[in-house]
Amino acid sequence: MASVEHILIVGGGLAGLALAHGLQQQGFTPELVERNASWETVGAGIFLHANAMRVLRSLGLDAEVERAGTVIRRWAFYGQSGERLSETDLAEVWDGLGPCVGIARPALHKVLLAAAGTTRARLGMAVTSLVQADEQVRVGFSDGSSAVYDLVVGADGIQSTVRQLTWDGVPVGYTGVMCWRGIVPMRPAGVSGWTGVFGDGVVFGLVPLGDGHTYGFAFAGGPQIHDPLEGRLARIRERFAALRGPVPAYLAALTRDEDLHCAPIEWVEMPEWHSGHVVVIGDAAHAGPPTMAQGGAMALEDAYVLADVLGAETSVESALRVYASRRGPRVRWVEEQSRAMAAMFRTDYATFTAMFRERADAQMRALYRPLIPAP
Ligand SMILES: Cc1cc2nc3c(=O)[nH]c(=O)nc-3n(C[C@H](O)[C@H](O)[C@H](O)COP(=O)(O)OP(=O)(O)OC[C@H]3O[C@@H](n4cnc5c(N)ncnc54)[C@H](O)[C@@H]3O)c2cc1C
Repeated sequence: MASVEHILIVGGGLAGLALAHGLQQQGFTPELVERNASWETVGAGIFLHANAMRVLRSLGLDAEVERAGTVIRRWAFYGQSGERLSETDLAEVWDGLGPCVGIARPALHKVLLAAAGTTRARLGMAVTSLVQADEQVRVGFSDGSSAVYDLVVGADGIQSTVRQLTWDGVPVGYTGVMCWRGIVPMRPAGVSGWTGVFGDGVVFGLVPLGDGHTYGFAFAGGPQIHDPLEGRLARIRERFAALRGPVPAYLAALTRDEDLHCAPIEWVEMPEWHSGHVVVIGDAAHAGPPTMAQGGAMALEDAYVLADVLGAETSVESALRVYASRRGPRVRWVEEQSRAMAAMFRTDYATFTAMFRERADAQMRALYRPLIPAP
């Protein structure tokens, strides 16, 4: 076990909360600060692949997550007129590793939060400065206070303050894709598993959640825009009007502009994830287009591996070195493949759908195979 008494986790998202729980399991007593004044989450729903569920299983949370969400067994893609292009059995993709689950983000957060419950967590508190000296980190907080830690973990998302305070000039880029997402309290006919409908330069995804709800997300390539709230729903209905299958029923079930969250899809990539006694995990360290639905899974795996190496190694330095070498190949595989898939979406519609019909099933299996072994 690394001799690290005072650990600060910055950020209470998936990565931060899973890490808090994982560190407690290893016998550490971390502290956590979250910038938001409440535990509210944005972003509608999330699809948890079997490798994400494996981490939740190691934390003892898989059964609760399954109960709060719904198990998803198949993955199907359709063309814009509703014709089926491919269908894949997820148990075969993951070689029996365990179920995949669709869940509302607030429901997942609630489970993680309850599990991390004994961690000292301060809401409405952000990090404003970090100074490293003598194998310790002095952290300044937004209330003017400061404290010294043996390790600071930046789990503070794609706009990470910890990253900005530790590394110069890591850019956050726009992937060229805008995203709209929301949850409806019904299940459109035909949505029994993860369902994707392709149009010209657009993709619409529908994911079953718990309680008969459905999470929908729409990706559209193009310049980064600000889509004002007023009139958003009408604009989305018009923009995706050509898509058939279950899409019209989903769009009809949305009732207010506020039902749709809109954001650009961004990426961040950096050559190293630790410096001295500071390390970044999850989106703070690596983020890209969610084409493999693996960002959350990678954030959970990061947390699991970091807790594991801190429990196994004798110093912070060696733990962080082992952490980076265990995480590097997997995370880079996901980044590269996610970007390649996003580029495929820019192929013209006829070529793309023909290619997809022919190769999707085999390619999907190959895509996730390297993630089947434990991280
Ligand atoms: C459109 C879209 C769809 C996606 N779909 C999927 C999917 O289906 N499956 C999947 O696995 N992944 C998916 N992802 C990726 C996934 O959402 C992210 O990878 C994951 O949420 C990252 O978790 P995190 O904890 O690293 O960061 P975040 O969830 O961003 O959490 C960071 C936390 O840190 C807090 N914070 C920020 N700055 C500070 C500060 N200075 N001080 C204190 N606290 C701070 C924030 O308030 C936040 O609570 C998707 C992403 C997008 C954009």
